[in-house]
Amino acid sequence: MSESPHEPAPQPEQAPAQSAPEPAQAQESPGGRRNGAILEVEDVHTYYGAIHALKGITLDVREGEIVTLIGANGAGKSTTLRSINGLNHPRMGTIRFQGRDITNDAPHKIVASGISQSPEGRKLFPRMTVLENLEMGTFQLKDRSTFKDDLERVYALFPRLAERKTQNAGTLSGGEQQMVAMGRALMAKPKLLMLDEPSMGLAPIFVERIFEIVVEINRQGTPILLVEQNALMALDVANRGYVMETGHIALTDEANVLAKNEQVQKAYLGMD
Ligand code: ATP
Repeated sequence: MSESPHEPAPQPEQAPAQSAPEPAQAQESPGGRRNGAILEVEDVHTYYGAIHALKGITLDVREGEIVTLIGANGAGKSTTLRSINGLNHPRMGTIRFQGRDITNDAPHKIVASGISQSPEGRKLFPRMTVLENLEMGTFQLKDRSTFKDDLERVYALFPRLAERKTQNAGTLSGGEQQMVAMGRALMAKPKLLMLDEPSMGLAPIFVERIFEIVVEINRQGTPILLVEQNALMALDVANRGYVMETGHIALTDEANVLAKNEQVQKAYLGMD
């Protein structure tokens, strides 16, 4: 998108044009991926017991992108992330990551494959220090030889965490706790970072800072799937967006197009 501060990275996954391919295969790479997508969610249905929370969700995240998922309370945004991260497996549909089917993989396997998440409400270990919480993010890593560099990268993104590294996480402000949650997710060296409501409950000054850092993390090369209630900020930093309504995708487009859409402006951007 032309007005975005950061263009998506080039997509090297496209199939080389040899002879004319079958139409059904035209968008697929040799690894089976669509349009350079790193994450592909296809017609996913997820339930809580008898409650049909996701009614056929299809979305993708491509290399280099920030993609945002916006929508009202209860639309199914968190459930979409829970379907991807293995906490609530879909009953129908497919989820592929880097071309591999992860639909029914266990959460620890999904983290190990490169998807990590900063969850809604942070979910820190309050009696552990900032540093210990960050270390928890490396739990699934087989190779920990880059631990020091990874920690330095997190401290460079969040200098406040370096200052508070020996402080118990439970005594930090909400904004600082959000930084720990994002830092912990980054310590897992994700190939895809999922953020669930990073701005929730934060003072405006922290909200702006968090979104700046989201852009910086992406600029350093990590694709991001961003769930947000703050649609205005989310559409401002994202390349593309999906609008969710009661378990399905109501609308999808480039983020700058969605931000100008009258329906989106009325429902989510507080404009009349
Ligand atoms: P919010 O912004 O309020 O977190 P959301 O868009 O993330 O909303 P979800 O939390 O995914 O929405 O909820 C989608 C639907 O699933 C809602 O109808 C919700 O009531 C239902 N739901 C979510 N969690 C559970 C649960 N543990 N048990 C039963 N129903 C649930």
